[in-house]
Amino acid sequence: MPAIDAATERAASVFGASEDGTKIISVETYALSVPLEKPIADSNAALTHWIVPVVEVKTSDGFVGTGISGVHNAPELLCDIVQKYYAPALLGAPADDIVGTWNRMYWQPTHWMGRAGTVHMALAMVDIALWDIAAQRAGMPLWKLLGGSAAPVEAYNTNGGWLNFSDSELVADLLDLVDQGWKRVKIKVGSADWREDVRRVRAVRAAIGDEVTLMCDANQKWDFSTAARILPYLEEARMDWVEEPLHPEDVDGHARLQSLTTLDIAGGEAIYSYQQFSTFMSRNAYRVVQPDVTRLGGITEWRNVATQAGAMGIRMAPHAGDMMQVHQHLVGTVLSEAKPLVEFIPWTREAFLDRSRIEAGMMTRPQVPGASTAIKPEARRNWQIRAVGASQSL
Ligand code: MG
Repeated sequence: MPAIDAATERAASVFGASEDGTKIISVETYALSVPLEKPIADSNAALTHWIVPVVEVKTSDGFVGTGISGVHNAPELLCDIVQKYYAPALLGAPADDIVGTWNRMYWQPTHWMGRAGTVHMALAMVDIALWDIAAQRAGMPLWKLLGGSAAPVEAYNTNGGWLNFSDSELVADLLDLVDQGWKRVKIKVGSADWREDVRRVRAVRAAIGDEVTLMCDANQKWDFSTAARILPYLEEARMDWVEEPLHPEDVDGHARLQSLTTLDIAGGEAIYSYQQFSTFMSRNAYRVVQPDVTRLGGITEWRNVATQAGAMGIRMAPHAGDMMQVHQHLVGTVLSEAKPLVEFIPWTREAFLDRSRIEAGMMTRPQVPGASTAIKPEARRNWQIRAVGASQSL
């Protein structure tokens, strides 16, 4: 169409032309509120729904890339940032210039306001959409484009062990997961009285036996003294890792805690930059990093963290803010001595056209070209939040 051609020509003078002349012609945002099977709680939040902000980026040659995030509330903030501040850096730009686009969004419209939180999560949505386009255009699933192996990847289950369960519900829930074939499971800790955690952890270990790998997650609840006090009991229960014991930005606290224990300290779901991950790793503050593609600036920045973790011999298990739809493509695509591992939470599987596939604790790689982020039309009809999102095109 002539209008698009004229605008595209103007944009090309700003952004530079892509190899094949294709351009981004529209940016649409919306959000889904997906109901959970049952209400859940950890030490920080109680949830009945998981909210999925979405961006769809269309190109002049007919591809639609989908980027997603995951939040408890305020999806309108992410959609507004994409529409008001990032869309001008996208419309008319080549879709294949992923790092260039990342830098334009990072350095210009919102950099002065911050490089974390909502502005960075909105940037991640766009970056994921551009990688989705790249994989679709290559005609292959993203993991294959990134050089990953087709072999199944081990998964661990986080959809259990919640803090709002009674002791008997907790034990029954964990036994149910083990019966389903899960070999690695995680429970929540961070009760008002840490001695309740000790009781629950002991009950779970006694019930599931020694063969199942058990992890726990305090969701940032403890101060240093409480965390240090409970560590011997977690060692006694043979925890594989202790996740987010302290405030997520307390590098010194995590490093001191790690030096006190044979358990691995894990964290990273509330860390927004590869520079901050680098600080944690170089200070021996984590032995397991949990980069989240929706909190870092998307796939582009996630790969930096995974590469550094591999180089330093640090285990890596991405946090499932994306509910595993993107991470199932990313794990195992960089060199590491540690075996790939992915976190499984099934809350939003029904929202996606190509949902993740897990059997007996093993994840099978997707086969559909792209990043497995495309949303089902019926999910949008049933769960779209009114008055959130917008659309702009050339
Ligand atoms: Mg966690």
